[in-house]
Amino acid sequence: MTVLIQNAHILTMDHRREIVGGALLVREGKIAFVGEERDLPAQTKADRVIDARGGVVMPGFINAHTHLAMTLLRGYGSDLNLQDWLFQKIFPAEDRLLPGDCGAAGDLGIAEMLLGGTTAFLDMYMFMEETAEAVKRSGIRAVLSRGLTAGDAFEEKLAEAVRLHTDWHDTCDGRIRVMLCVHAEYTNNEQTVRRIAEEAKKLGVGIHVHVSETDSETKGCLERHGVTPAQWLDSLGVFDGPAVAAHCVWLTPQDEELFARKGVSVVHNPGSNMKLASGVCPVQELLNRGVNVALGTDGASSNNTLNMQKEVYLAALLGKLSALDPTAVDAYTALEMATVRGAKALGIDDVCGVLREGMDADLILFDTCAPWWSPVSDAAAQVVYAASQEDIRLTMVRGEILMEDRVVKTVNVAAAKAAVEHAVEHLYE
Ligand SMILES: [Zn+2]
Repeated sequence: MTVLIQNAHILTMDHRREIVGGALLVREGKIAFVGEERDLPAQTKADRVIDARGGVVMPGFINAHTHLAMTLLRGYGSDLNLQDWLFQKIFPAEDRLLPGDCGAAGDLGIAEMLLGGTTAFLDMYMFMEETAEAVKRSGIRAVLSRGLTAGDAFEEKLAEAVRLHTDWHDTCDGRIRVMLCVHAEYTNNEQTVRRIAEEAKKLGVGIHVHVSETDSETKGCLERHGVTPAQWLDSLGVFDGPAVAAHCVWLTPQDEELFARKGVSVVHNPGSNMKLASGVCPVQELLNRGVNVALGTDGASSNNTLNMQKEVYLAALLGKLSALDPTAVDAYTALEMATVRGAKALGIDDVCGVLREGMDADLILFDTCAPWWSPVSDAAAQVVYAASQEDIRLTMVRGEILMEDRVVKTVNVAAAKAAVEHAVEHLYE
């Protein structure tokens, strides 16, 4: 299938910060041309021609930290701090999860992401084979990690994480990849973290981990181990290979330096951090040190949505407010965090994250007919500060149109909603 998108503003998100007024050609799942219409090779034939009507085409959003199946617990226990929310509300509800619940939540969460222009995500949760099946069905791209915590069943859970790798890594033509995961310092011990780091090294995969999300986590770690969570995890080998550290709100300058030195990617989750009043990730400082910073929604239970356009907006505004500097986290940088930097964090930047010939066609199209788009003087700023996710007209992964005109093509949304609402009956107290 060949698709030609014409009459578009194209935000390529490559390092030249190029915005091209022109056309984009997709052939066999890959980008075959990006540029001005007059440079399109003569006799270019397409099975489908889409008139963007001056709309904005850019790489799809990459949600670099989420817990997809927590869509089941959307908004459950709102307006609490992280520890109370997690230990009083979430963990007890999770003990009541039944097989099938996470698959239904996966379908619903993926439908929400496709409607919001997300083309890839990094997940951390349990019942991950159900999530993998949902990813397979839907056509979206994902990197999956089974959440691991210390406890009686640790070795069993670790074996499950390794099995997820055996069964799903690099499947669906590479659309699904698998990482290992340390849930967090405060839910693990020295022995479990060492075991996970060892297995990750053996499998040659990265590690996904929550780091210094709250002040109390960081202070507790200092009491328990005499060092910060970042330093403790590092001492156990977690950052010896590729690693993705979510939240990173309470980092010391030494932690920041460690992440720069070891090439650890940080995932900023502004909506979740603000709602739980956890604090502010020092995004601009990390970027200045050369740390790769990506963007995530966190789960829908703490964020309430998986809306990446909203996170981009929050990241730019919170970055400026916290630095008291309007030049901090500029619009283009916020979009890089949601695209090319996300791809780098997930280790999928070889195939997506920028719109360039030869890359997979993972992209979105914003319709710009609404009044809040007019006039467009700076397409990147408009996407960050003015756009709404409802303006997204098309979401494509590897050349497949998965959402068009606000209709998800690969998920039965009504059925997914019904299944999730049914599951909630046994999950809530
Ligand atoms: Zn999280």
